[in-house]
Amino acid sequence: MRVLVVEDDPDLNRQLVTALTDGGYAVDSAKDGEEGYFLGETEPYDVVILDIGLPKMDGISILEQWRRAERNMPVIILTARDRWSDKVQGMDAGADDYVAKPFHMEELLARVRAQVRRSTGHAKNEIECGPLRLDTKSARVTYDGQPVKLTSHEYRLLAYMMHHNGRVVSRTELVEHLYEQDFDRDSNTIEVFIGRLRKKIPGDLIKTVRGLGYRLSEEPDAP
Ligand code: CA
Repeated sequence: MRVLVVEDDPDLNRQLVTALTDGGYAVDSAKDGEEGYFLGETEPYDVVILDIGLPKMDGISILEQWRRAERNMPVIILTARDRWSDKVQGMDAGADDYVAKPFHMEELLARVRAQVRRSTGHAKNEIECGPLRLDTKSARVTYDGQPVKLTSHEYRLLAYMMHHNGRVVSRTELVEHLYEQDFDRDSNTIEVFIGRLRKKIPGDLIKTVRGLGYRLSEEPDAP
């Protein structure tokens, strides 16, 4: 899952990037409105965290323009505590949720999880595929109740596939949702990570769909 943080306060920006990266997300960040607008316009994000008061372009205008251009990713706005009108304006401009500053990082992370969950059609924090289970809150994976040890990139890949289980995901889609913008992207590395995951997860759950990509499913493929 890939997240964009648009926040001009350098300390808060850094804290958000650190907390989200630790939470298993690929994170891009922007410190002014123009850069944030551009990233959200051109890159696919699973969630965007958007401050309202920003230099160069304000958060409400950014959001309105994204929505006008059919950019439909979930957006959580950051508002000042005493500015109730920002919340109303933001929600009306197309925000999916808001957090008032100052906030606890745990609350922000819970709201991010909720948006990812809802936008991928899940109601619970735990996602299952047969014996495989992902707890998005603790970022842990178990198979038959036994913990599966994953590197951060393996976790990102598996978490994305579990949120989209049953559906074919292409290598391009995986590359776009697993790596930061400045990462040296090579879709061959996806194949390597899939190979590693298959070694760690028994039961042939990760299927290759020839020419299309991969599908996580407990059902055997049609002959
Ligand atoms: Ca600000």
